[in-house]
Amino acid sequence: MLIELNNLKKININAFQTDLISWFKKEQRNLPWRKDQDPYKVWVSEVMLQQTRVDTVIPYFNRFIDWFPTIEDLATADEEKVLKAWEGLGYYSRVRNLQSAVKEVKETYGGVVPDSPEEISKLKGVGPYTAGAILSIAYGKPEPAVDGNVMRVLSRILSIWEDIARPSSRKIFEQAVRELISHEDPSAFNQALMELGALVCTPTSPACLLCPVREHCQAFDEGVQSELPVKTKKTKTRQVQLASAILLAGNGKILIHKRPSTGLLANLWEFPNVEIAHPLEGERGHVEQLFNTATELSVTLGKVIGQVEHIFSHLLWNIKVYIGQIDGTFAESDEWKLVSPEEMEQFAFPVPYQKMFLLYQESLLN
Ligand code: SF4
Repeated sequence: MLIELNNLKKININAFQTDLISWFKKEQRNLPWRKDQDPYKVWVSEVMLQQTRVDTVIPYFNRFIDWFPTIEDLATADEEKVLKAWEGLGYYSRVRNLQSAVKEVKETYGGVVPDSPEEISKLKGVGPYTAGAILSIAYGKPEPAVDGNVMRVLSRILSIWEDIARPSSRKIFEQAVRELISHEDPSAFNQALMELGALVCTPTSPACLLCPVREHCQAFDEGVQSELPVKTKKTKTRQVQLASAILLAGNGKILIHKRPSTGLLANLWEFPNVEIAHPLEGERGHVEQLFNTATELSVTLGKVIGQVEHIFSHLLWNIKVYIGQIDGTFAESDEWKLVSPEEMEQFAFPVPYQKMFLLYQESLLN
């Protein structure tokens, strides 16, 4: 903790705030969640922006706010529709937590997002970063909002050599923000730090010559900006080999399955699939047997129409895609449904299964 306190002494805090905020006011991007300072919209945007790029988030944000313009609308929405609005963004537990938290805001706080750190931090899925972002951006409170982006920028400005991959490092950066933040305009200050990280002080090639706070930057002064931040590598990605099939019933409808209500991609829809533990199991006959056991149906698999790869944070799915048919009759249930290609629209599918459906549609054209 001593290192950064010493480094804080080297910075002219007032001049730093002025340079950073005036740059932000001139150069900030025109983003839909910046049109007003509605805490609900700030909240939705911050949840979407975790792990997802701004350009990708914009259309999702606009549609989400169009479908659920208020806390009341999201709190009372059907989960299926909420998942559909999130389809493709990944990390679906984020939107489930958002909806639970919004319900709590409706029930406990009369539909108004609480403005105290203690209350807001108790809401489901609201970690220190999201709490700080809402409190500062929407409510103008001088609270830190520290994510990886902000840690990178501050590690350079203050020459902090703590490993930002370690959860305990966040506290050091939060303390630094508490010292540096403008009490006149905490909203602009935090957004400016985030914007600087997105536009100028980027991960691999910081544009120091264009940087509005270069004069205050200790890493630039020492010529070590490309060595910071210190970030140890994540654990290795686990690879999972799956076989999945577009299974057609006699009436031409496709079999879909609802995933369990807990765990990865909970409550989303998928095509029937099985994990193949050993490469030798990849041959059709064995996969067919696995399918019959997993679905309790009689299934005949046809040709392989392609391969889909999808990376989650620590997991890589490699899906071998079959087409096939269901022999005999089939009784639908809450978890197993037969749907026409047009009806698929009503169900939320994670990206790998959307890719798989595209493969299927392409195969029909060949
Ligand atoms: Fe980042 Fe360079 Fe600006 Fe320092 S001078 S904050 S390293 S862009």
